[in-house]
Amino acid sequence: MERLIAGAAKLGLRLSPRQVEQFQLYYQELVEWNKRVNLTAIADYEGVQVKHFLDSLSVTLALEEGGMVGGGDFRLLDVGAGAGLPGLPLKILYPGLNLVLLDSTAKKTAFLRHLSARLGLEDVEVETGRAEELAHQSRYREQFDVVVSRAVAVLPSLVELTLPFCRVGGIFIAQKKGQIGQEIEEAARAIGILGGELREVRRVELEGLEEHLLVVVAKRSPTPQRYPRRPGIPSRRHL
Ligand code: SAM
Repeated sequence: MERLIAGAAKLGLRLSPRQVEQFQLYYQELVEWNKRVNLTAIADYEGVQVKHFLDSLSVTLALEEGGMVGGGDFRLLDVGAGAGLPGLPLKILYPGLNLVLLDSTAKKTAFLRHLSARLGLEDVEVETGRAEELAHQSRYREQFDVVVSRAVAVLPSLVELTLPFCRVGGIFIAQKKGQIGQEIEEAARAIGILGGELREVRRVELEGLEEHLLVVVAKRSPTPQRYPRRPGIPSRRHL
């Protein structure tokens, strides 16, 4: 895990031997399950360390500014977590985190349940379902300090899948790559309707993660009850 340890140090994060062991076990389980379940196209040792684990930890750059770190005692939701990215690396980093991992694919959530137990993580809830539906349940709606999402949808539909989960005063962080100026412009109207405000677009400056960006949206007011719309609508008809 040398590449991960070195990259984390650049983020000002020192990983303990236990955390390094957990990342190593995460890697092994990912590769093993990936033979049967389509979890990731990146499964080489170096790629997983940098493009999955370190990339996930880069979210801390936005958490610090949001004043959310403090030992990790906050509620975080990962929408479309897939193989657990970025949610599970953040949980390994902040053991005190209260984490919910959401994905619509049962095979992936089976992996997430298996892995959370294998890593000995507490306070991790795994939900199988569509964000469009779960965001209307009172136990999830506007309940999270931080909502994160990576590689799930373009920003105009992604904000409809994520902002309803954020409490007022909380933040949504989207991990994005490349040229996203137009995507951000197209999401501006949706962000406003959903009660959000674009706070910043932060560039991640780490070797192997060039062009990676964190789009941070602050939740300013409650999301109107009719959002998100029915499954599939947010991606077909942007707000
Ligand atoms: N976040 C992970 C990563 O970066 O490796 C997984 C990304 S994968 C490309 C997108 C994931 O989002 C898939 O696992 C898919 O099942 C999930 N997903 C897509 N739309 C969703 C929705 N509306 N509600 C819940 N999960 C969704």
